Amino acid sequence: MEKRQRNRTAPTHHPFSNLLVCIDCGSGMNYKKDRKGYMCGRYAKYGVKCCKSHLIKEAVLIDIVKPDFMSGMSQMDKEVMKRDFHKKVSYYSKRNEREIENVEGRIEVLKRRKKNLVTMMADGELDRESCMESIK
Ligand SMILES: [Zn+2]
Repeated sequence: MEKRQRNRTAPTHHPFSNLLVCIDCGSGMNYKKDRKGYMCGRYAKYGVKCCKSHLIKEAVLIDIVKPDFMSGMSQMDKEVMKRDFHKKVSYYSKRNEREIENVEGRIEVLKRRKKNLVTMMADGELDRESCMESIK
């Protein structure tokens, strides 16, 4: 239990969770990760004998809701949203840049190691087998 607790990932938020209700049976629609959409909770639990899946993709719902959402926002809200968006984008791009630098650094180290090993092999200080062993 302790191990599972540690490995648990943060819950991902799905904007339509607890909002959608099945048109046939009235139970809540649950998000299904593998289907990238919402499905009747009763169907998900008990199968086809109890209800239909009524699967609806999250992307479709977002497309439907987005225009209304945007037009309902004041100009100020839009500015705030834009600023937040830019902040997030620059945060992630900085993080990616750092990651790229790290990877490039590692590539350089590996290149140097490879060069050293080749030199050692050429000088007869290292046989092919040991060389292969050391790059594993
Ligand atoms: Zn249902």
